[in-house]
Amino acid sequence: MKTRFAAFAGTVRRLVGFFKCLTGHHAFEVTQALSPQSCRIACRRCNRVFAMNEDVRVVVPWDREFHRMYESHGVKIRYKDWEFRKPNASVSISGGEPGYAPREC
Ligand SMILES: [Zn+2]
Repeated sequence: MKTRFAAFAGTVRRLVGFFKCLTGHHAFEVTQALSPQSCRIACRRCNRVFAMNEDVRVVVPWDREFHRMYESHGVKIRYKDWEFRKPNASVSISGGEPGYAPREC
């Protein structure tokens, strides 16, 4: 009985987390400082990645343009292995290994 309750509680927790992320209330973690004013942040629940700039107070989804721009300014972009990964995926679907760059669209 205890395990059924634990499974139910886990399902409810994941469902609540899903709706929090869906409404923009992500569980952010700084994954790399890029400059004194900007950093790359990612959500530990949904693994989505964003660029944040403190000067203009903006958070926007991270894409290949940010990757290219920062690398052209001499910043070595290092992704965590869980970034861009689907939350319940056992393997990365879009990379994540060191040196990985988001694919061209
Ligand atoms: Zn999220």
